[in-house]
Amino acid sequence: MKGKRVLIINRGEIAIRVAKALNELGLVSVGVWTDNETEPPHLEYCQEWVHLQGNNNKETYLNIPKIMKIIEDYKIDGVHPGYGFLSENREFSEALAKKGIVFIGPNPNAVYKMGAKDISKQVAKEAGVPVVPGSTGEVATIEEAIKIGNEIGFPVLLKAVAGGGGKGMRPCHSEEDVKNNFAAVQREALSGFGYAGLLVEKYIQNPHHIEVQILADKKGNVFHVFERECSVQRRHQKIIEEAPSPFIGTDEALRKSICEAAVKCARAVNYDSAGTVEFIMGEDKKFYFLEMNTRIQVEHPITEEITGVDLVANMIKGAFGEPLDFNSQDQIRIQGHAIELRICAEDPVSMLPAPGKVVGFETTFPQGIRFDHCIYPQFMITPDFDPMIGKLIARGFNRDVALRKVKNAVENLSIEGLKTNIPLHRVILNEENFKQGHYSTNYISTIKPQEHVAKREELSSFLLKMAAIELTQQENQK
Ligand code: ADP
Ligand code: ADP
Ligand code: MG
Repeated sequence: MKGKRVLIINRGEIAIRVAKALNELGLVSVGVWTDNETEPPHLEYCQEWVHLQGNNNKETYLNIPKIMKIIEDYKIDGVHPGYGFLSENREFSEALAKKGIVFIGPNPNAVYKMGAKDISKQVAKEAGVPVVPGSTGEVATIEEAIKIGNEIGFPVLLKAVAGGGGKGMRPCHSEEDVKNNFAAVQREALSGFGYAGLLVEKYIQNPHHIEVQILADKKGNVFHVFERECSVQRRHQKIIEEAPSPFIGTDEALRKSICEAAVKCARAVNYDSAGTVEFIMGEDKKFYFLEMNTRIQVEHPITEEITGVDLVANMIKGAFGEPLDFNSQDQIRIQGHAIELRICAEDPVSMLPAPGKVVGFETTFPQGIRFDHCIYPQFMITPDFDPMIGKLIARGFNRDVALRKVKNAVENLSIEGLKTNIPLHRVILNEENFKQGHYSTNYISTIKPQEHVAKREELSSFLLKMAAIELTQQENQK
């Protein structure tokens, strides 16, 4: 495996993460940059760079023929897709397989079977894993959706089978709601994912998003690396994740059962890389398969922190046919607790993306803080890409310690020049229910960021003023 040339078809923090792992393992990291990325920070971590010409994602990060040409021209042996972009694209992994290029991800068939939410639900069901009640396949008409709603009971969720990133889903509380939203979700699905197909499922009340990390090799070994709780979400997208799940807590039987269900799903598609099986868990602790993400996930570091398993390095080793760092499930253990905050260029109150330029960046992190990021002064967060700029991760002996550490770290993180969700994170980490670990996916709607962010800002500026007055008084006394 040493000396193999690996192309990273991604950018930002994940490209940096992958480049570091490749360098450590003695492979050659080859990065790309496009016309609308000036001074991309990920290239600093790559040993070689290739220009991917074009200034929109269709011409660049999603352009399979162009990428295949680079692979040929630069004698590439393998490709790491990161997350998003071509990471879950069957056509891409098939194109690579045809040319004998190693895809650092799962086999094309697993990508296909877990790619659409209707097909993957069927796979999970056949594997004996509970799925969210609702349609098993696509629902083509409003009448059919209403019929299912009446059978399983409202509220229901209309969901794009090709969706991702929390997009293409709407809850409907009545027949009327279904009538009003059906066509709109179809339109969103078509414009966002190129496919209008929808499914209808029971909208679970106050649920938890709990997911299980899978790590498998090309020789039929499938392991789980325990669970993560990702219930702090806005627009069905995660902003804070922690591992292990506070909701599962010390219920080891439940932990075992959800982790084993994930392994069943992975085995059902001959899974052979790092991936994540997502579940939704009701207040009654019953869990249902949601989907499988056949790639490395944004929140993988918290799993690495509590288990010591380097997921990216193992993903690379497995792809090149090398043995993983362990050979039995009981070698993987949880030690302590980890919390991750997604730091995004977005308005802390409206939580909508707010692109801009970073003019200053300062941190004084205590030991034990991991900040996977791609920022440096002058870095532009543009509307062309995802507004996430980094992930602040803390591990502690237990949840309280991890919480104290991450709180301290986010208090000391300053990113100037653009709006970020740092003030929102500060509010959440000081909020009583979060502190107690009592929250579900509707948590964000309960905290009224409007009031609290403003109050905190006021308090901060009041404290700053007081400090300035004190300083002037001291000066005057001299
Ligand atoms: P994770 O489950 O890893 O936390 P997210 O849902 O936050 O993933 O998505 C990670 C990245 O991948 C984001 O940049 C998101 O916009 C992108 N993404 C996820 N799913 C899709 C998809 N089906 N199509 C396009 N982009 C996607
Ligand atoms: P995506 O591919 O966009 O990540 P998921 O199916 O994983 O879509 O769902 C994303 C989030 O949407 C979940 O974490 C959860 O908060 C919410 N969600 C999805 N399905 C349901 C459901 N049936 N009931 C309640 N909430 C759901
Ligand atoms: Mg999901």
